[in-house]
Amino acid sequence: MTAVEAGEPLHGIFIDVELDEAVANDAAIAAKLAEVCPVDIFAAVDGQAVIVRENLDECVLCYLCVEAAPDGGVRIVKLYE
Ligand code: SF4
Repeated sequence: MTAVEAGEPLHGIFIDVELDEAVANDAAIAAKLAEVCPVDIFAAVDGQAVIVRENLDECVLCYLCVEAAPDGGVRIVKLYE
């Protein structure tokens, strides 16, 4: 995964979000992700989707981001059982 990332280079403690490079570099999808996520985990910067790492653990597992992207383009990874 080579998506551009903002904030500290740390993953969330409970949740990580993975973006396909093609999705991260698609301006329309980036804007959509920034719009749908209720807790601002995505930002659209210069036409790229950026993960706002400090917000990762706010994820409410609504999967709106997964639905907004092409199949498999966004993955929500639970770092806990
Ligand atoms: S599952 Fe919902 S809260 Fe979590 S990153 Fe996706 S849109 Fe945001």
